[in-house]
Amino acid sequence: MVRSGTIAFAFVLQLLHLCHGFASNGDAVKKSAFLAREAKVGASAFSLPSLGFPYDALEGVFVGNQTMHLHHDRHHAFYVNMLNKALVGRDDVPQDVEILVQRIGNLPDAAQTPVRNHGGGHANHAMFWKWLKPGGSHEPSGKLREMIVKEFGSFANFQAEFQKAAVSRFGSGWAWLVLQRGTHKMKVCSTANQDNPLMDVDIGDCRGMPLLGLDVWEHAYYLDFFNLRLGYIKAFWKVVNFDAVQERFDKALTSPYMQDRSSAHMSSSSFLMIIGVLLMWCS
Ligand code: MN
Repeated sequence: MVRSGTIAFAFVLQLLHLCHGFASNGDAVKKSAFLAREAKVGASAFSLPSLGFPYDALEGVFVGNQTMHLHHDRHHAFYVNMLNKALVGRDDVPQDVEILVQRIGNLPDAAQTPVRNHGGGHANHAMFWKWLKPGGSHEPSGKLREMIVKEFGSFANFQAEFQKAAVSRFGSGWAWLVLQRGTHKMKVCSTANQDNPLMDVDIGDCRGMPLLGLDVWEHAYYLDFFNLRLGYIKAFWKVVNFDAVQERFDKALTSPYMQDRSSAHMSSSSFLMIIGVLLMWCS
């Protein structure tokens, strides 16, 4: 409630500012400045991030050099290129791909499927490389561990649930640990294709802020594990970067995405009244 109150206050200030602008000089520029307040960028803004570690760093433990080259340099690069193609000529898209996939519904119909597929592919892989840690993993600690134990009973139970989600995803997709919006409870689930739990389209019930994810497309493991997806999933635990999971967990707690929608909803009627009064005052 405090946060939505702050947002409401900021919004009213903006409206007052706008009203003042219109009333004094009728300058429509102020309106467009207001609408364009959020950072926007042109097309081709998305670029392939570096892997962050040598391609052969996980060789023999998780997946090898050739898989990482194909996965990063070909597959991830393809998603980035196709995403940029889908957004050519658009200068009104968020520059953060995680924000972009939260707002697919705002895009014109023709752009929604390419952004879901390739924006999802870019977002998922950009997250994925950060979840891999050459040199070995260590189990989570602190509040992250406490919450995992609270939600799943034990760290081992969490691992078993995650493995189950990853192995039972039929065809291509991702297994996830998410922090759910509103309840702030953890959940293990999976999505199809390149869907990401942040997406505002019909992706099923696997929704929330991703804390950890595993790519279970065959391109992620076939050269190293052939058809043995379970072997790949079990090997994942040897290289998970729980520091990166912790970082996402800490950020999630203060993320606007995680705000309780129900409390925002409660203030919407008073919001409309305020807007109505302001419009009357402006005219
Ligand atoms: Mn992949």
